[in-house]
Amino acid sequence: MIDKANFANIIQFCNQQGVTLVAVSKTKPVEDIIALYQLGQRIFGENKVQELVEKAQQLPGNIQWHLIGHLQTNKVKQVLPHVALIHSVDSLHLLEEIEHESAKLSQKTEILLQVKIAVEETKYGLNEDELKEIIELVNAGKFTHIVTRGLMGMASFTEAEEQVKKEFASLKIIFNKTKEMLETSSCFDILSMGMSGDFRLAVAEGSNMVRVGSLIFGER
Ligand SMILES: *Cc1c(COP(=O)(O)O)cnc(C)c1O
Repeated sequence: MIDKANFANIIQFCNQQGVTLVAVSKTKPVEDIIALYQLGQRIFGENKVQELVEKAQQLPGNIQWHLIGHLQTNKVKQVLPHVALIHSVDSLHLLEEIEHESAKLSQKTEILLQVKIAVEETKYGLNEDELKEIIELVNAGKFTHIVTRGLMGMASFTEAEEQVKKEFASLKIIFNKTKEMLETSSCFDILSMGMSGDFRLAVAEGSNMVRVGSLIFGER
């Protein structure tokens, strides 16, 4: 069951702020996705390749599927035909595999680089040195089948609002620095941060794409 009142509030907030809403439908049935689709939502986020592909095959072709979870290199080939944006590129190795498989399909794949901003060890993401190394390779023209659209980050899972705010602010600074560093930065315009518990805070700190699941679809 989707929460229509929450969805109405969130979409109104996003529209007012000029923010893109990714409705995170992981673990939820296709019926719930259709219900939200009928309310006008077209962008859905999944964290597992298998689930994204299965849902994409059953649901309308004008849905944009975003992969938000960790991507293993051996699943790149499977997900590429179905995905509109990969939020979770967290290694050079993965980026190289996406380039390789995108070239085979003669497609340009849109991606975000995931940066680690949380203090928790469990969160994936590049550190600033790794990010810089990738940007240098992008500038060197190494990825002709990839469009680097921006950055993604996840804040620490904590009630401490100041901590979360600080982490989002740090990613916004990294975003600006990265854009500066890029030689072709016209497409570098997405900063994906904020989830059910912290999306308003994330937007206040400069996010322009939020990934909201449980507030819309209910607890998992
Ligand atoms: C599950 C998930 C979300 C959505 O989380 P909610 O707290 O349910 O809104 C956002 N981003 C990522 C990367 C996720 O895995």
